[in-house]
Amino acid sequence: MDMIDLRSDTVTTPTDAMRASMAVSEVGDDVLGDDPTVARLEALGAAMAGKQAGLFMPSGTMSNTVAIRSWTQPGDEVLMDWDAHSTRFEVGAPAALAGVMVRHYRSRAGVPDPVEVASCLQRENLHAPGTTLALLENTHNVAGGTVVPAAVIEAVATAVHDHGARLHMDGARLFNAAVALGAQAAELCAHVDSVTFCLSKGLSCPVGSVLCGPSDFIERARRFRKQMGGGLRQVGVLAACGIVALEGMVRRLAEDHANARLMAERLCGVAGIGLDLETVQTNMVYLTCAAPAQRLVDALRAEGVLCLALGSRRVRLVTHRCVSADQCRQAGATIARIAAGLPA
Ligand SMILES: *Cc1c(COP(=O)(O)O)cnc(C)c1O
Repeated sequence: MDMIDLRSDTVTTPTDAMRASMAVSEVGDDVLGDDPTVARLEALGAAMAGKQAGLFMPSGTMSNTVAIRSWTQPGDEVLMDWDAHSTRFEVGAPAALAGVMVRHYRSRAGVPDPVEVASCLQRENLHAPGTTLALLENTHNVAGGTVVPAAVIEAVATAVHDHGARLHMDGARLFNAAVALGAQAAELCAHVDSVTFCLSKGLSCPVGSVLCGPSDFIERARRFRKQMGGGLRQVGVLAACGIVALEGMVRRLAEDHANARLMAERLCGVAGIGLDLETVQTNMVYLTCAAPAQRLVDALRAEGVLCLALGSRRVRLVTHRCVSADQCRQAGATIARIAAGLPA
């Protein structure tokens, strides 16, 4: 059976152009600063984010952790969304590896309220750790792949900067946000101090993220990347894929968004499924199901559709380059049939 894999956009495999580029790219020892392909990717990533400098990272998780470590001192407070990836899915890295206190704000469909963010920022005193960093997530994964608009980012940045703190954006899917908004990525990054985006998700690279920010921050980040074991050698073979991705894979993300939309519209109103169409803004569809989520996921696997249970009654479907519109139509029909037939 040909499986339709909607577990994550990380299941995308490198394109022929990426493999070809890996084979011919010039490489060197990047820890010694000798890899010209890595340097090209970092410059391109920084330019697209509108920042001074970029740094190739093995993963989005390491990128967020290094960013937090580079902007803070152990014991500082870092403010982020209740459902931020860095809170839910990074194995406690902010606490374990950056030594920070994490405090949470709540957002609506992934969009923070700048007034609430402002009210959470703490001044350092004899009792309180000072808030020195805040995080935004764009697109917001757990909220549904939802987009944070530029005006909200600017308002949050103003509050954070007025407090004397920094703002980091976890833009693992920054380009999905930009495509959905019809904006340039740099417009979404204009008011944040640093940003990271993944190459390994919808952009189809096998590995990698780019962390971008001011040059002095990136130099600190380079040291903390090394400290965490992320100094890599002839990594131009991976950076080459990143260049292909940034030059050629961004615009096609609109197809993934259209496919998520058509699947969501098919599933809307189906018995046994709850779905908020307003949260379907990019390449994700989150369902609430009447049956236990894992039971629905197991039943779908037997029918050739792969997806993930994220919560006891919550299932996530993610579209990407390796699933076609037809497969999304087929998956929508299968999910509707199976969900309607499962006992609650
Ligand atoms: C995937 C993801 C990350 C982490 O990326 P990895 O490369 O898997 O470590 C960070 N933030 C968000 C919002 C993500 O979806």
